[in-house]
Amino acid sequence: MTRRINHSKLELVKPSEDVDTSRRRLLQAAGLGTSVALIGGGLLTSPTAGAIETRANIVIVGAGAAGIAAANRLSRSLDGARITIIDSRQRHIYQPGLTLVATGSWKSNKLIDSNARYLPGSVDWIQDMVVEFDPEANRVATASGQTIDYDFLLVTTGLKLDFDAIEGMSPELIGEQGIGCVYDSPEHAERTWAMIDEFTRSGGTGLFTRAPGGIKCAGAPLKVAMLTEDLARRRGNRDRLAMRYQSPGSGLFSQPDMDAFLKREFPDRGISIDWHHRLKGIEPERKRAIFATADGDQSIDYDFIHVVPPMRAPDALGNSLLAWQQGPFAEDGNWLEVDSHSMQHRRYANVFGAGDCVGTPIGKTAASVKAQVPVAVQNLIEIIAGREPTASYDGYTSCPLITGRGRGILVEFDYELNMVPSFPFISPYREHWVPWVMKDRMLQPAYNAMLRGRI
Ligand SMILES: Cc1cc2nc3c(=O)[nH]c(=O)nc-3n(C[C@H](O)[C@H](O)[C@H](O)COP(=O)(O)OP(=O)(O)OC[C@H]3O[C@@H](n4cnc5c(N)ncnc54)[C@H](O)[C@@H]3O)c2cc1C
Repeated sequence: MTRRINHSKLELVKPSEDVDTSRRRLLQAAGLGTSVALIGGGLLTSPTAGAIETRANIVIVGAGAAGIAAANRLSRSLDGARITIIDSRQRHIYQPGLTLVATGSWKSNKLIDSNARYLPGSVDWIQDMVVEFDPEANRVATASGQTIDYDFLLVTTGLKLDFDAIEGMSPELIGEQGIGCVYDSPEHAERTWAMIDEFTRSGGTGLFTRAPGGIKCAGAPLKVAMLTEDLARRRGNRDRLAMRYQSPGSGLFSQPDMDAFLKREFPDRGISIDWHHRLKGIEPERKRAIFATADGDQSIDYDFIHVVPPMRAPDALGNSLLAWQQGPFAEDGNWLEVDSHSMQHRRYANVFGAGDCVGTPIGKTAASVKAQVPVAVQNLIEIIAGREPTASYDGYTSCPLITGRGRGILVEFDYELNMVPSFPFISPYREHWVPWVMKDRMLQPAYNAMLRGRI
């Protein structure tokens, strides 16, 4: 269970002295099995009691974190259903570990797994990509020319990194000319580490960008900046680096207490902030970036740049009738139009969604996936059973905001932007060693348990 508190008047403080007590409590909690809940949403979520007999034909599009977790849950809760999952991707990437690879703590092979290890045998896996959603005909079409009908559809396609929206940028540039990007792939995270390693030895000007709108793990661009700063300091090279964070708006983080903390923390650590700076172009040969600002375009030379591309729904989804047709979630990224609590499509009652592709006010973390998938699955099952869907997602999301090697802040909040800490002994207003240990040691096993639909 999560506790809801609103401590907006509290100040964030530096690590406290009660480390021994906290360590004891964490170990106690982990011993009770709490570690599997560390990606958020509280303790174990029970599978629906008693499998329901049905001949429903369910199609899941996207075999990432949300799609695989849903496939496992559905296959356990339904007896006789035909469940198909569509995705051509065979390797499974543990994306939350990309930050640790890009900043030198992990090797990339630790992130690489295979979807086949997690998909239940009773689920048909079509290794293909959906190119067209036709919700009027309850059908999807794939790249190889198949059409697949469904009674119920679960959309879990994740999102698309839109590198093309930055003039002169392409993913192949990551790892060259001082360009890094934590978001793309394990290999490119490793190449990003080579750039950060070099920058924190040689020094120069570092630009840390953040795309506007909904992005996955919105803490990642901040973590990359803080871990780079921390590394340069530990190497004794901090005064060789000029660090500039480029915010596309007037904030650093959506949760207001954390925003206030970061707006103090960055200047305290000598990271200056350029507000209303959106990366619109890059000239790799000249190591120059062009930003759209309130005063027109501005060019800034760099030695290292962390590029964060805009993110949007994959084209097949974004161009379909399933996407928001108007309003902020249409303009921001053509996200899937679901009710933000039931995860049911707002116009097509037999369609549900979960994960990075949905157009909801906050989310786009594995922690949100863990909270959303049981809701989407339960409501889908209720409809199959002829009942009203009643499960509700409260917007829970979480981010172990790593502020330096060995420390961080566990930020958990909901749609109301209230802090909802799962662990009473870890203050969400303090830097602490526990969020680092979670990120470094405990989240990956918890993530894998989520894939199996066990939590
Ligand atoms: C750098 C980084 C750091 C992160 N850190 C954290 C963290 O600390 N904590 C946290 O909770 N979360 C974190 N996350 C976020 C988390 O990893 C994602 O939110 C989560 O993986 C999203 O799961 P998903 O299933 O929605 O998408 P994905 O896991 O990306 O899967 C989407 C799948 O859909 C498939 N697909 C796409 N289009 C189609 C199509 N047309 N047809 C068929 N299949 C399709 C893709 O091939 C893919 O396999 C981080 C992410 C990144 C990148």
